[in-house]
Amino acid sequence: MDARKANDRIAQKAEQLRFVSRVPMLCECSAPACRTVVMVSLSDYREIRLTEDSFITALGHAAENATLESQTGDYEVHRAGRSRGEDDGSRRSA
Ligand SMILES: [Zn+2]
Repeated sequence: MDARKANDRIAQKAEQLRFVSRVPMLCECSAPACRTVVMVSLSDYREIRLTEDSFITALGHAAENATLESQTGDYEVHRAGRSRGEDDGSRRSA
């Protein structure tokens, strides 16, 4: 995932520059041509990255094999690696 690597670099740079507000990150959805930028605060980014299989995407963009974990006004967090079996009780139609 190139977008992810790029975002890690952006976050590193932002930390060096002591950014306190939000940082432009690349959407990490499955569309290779997607160049959407989402604004994420550094602390949120670090928190999201604690979970290795999470993807930050623009609103409405989907990450392959990942389910929507949370949503803010600016971006969505998707989480991969969760098998269908685990979600039995709360099945929702898309
Ligand atoms: Zn996207």
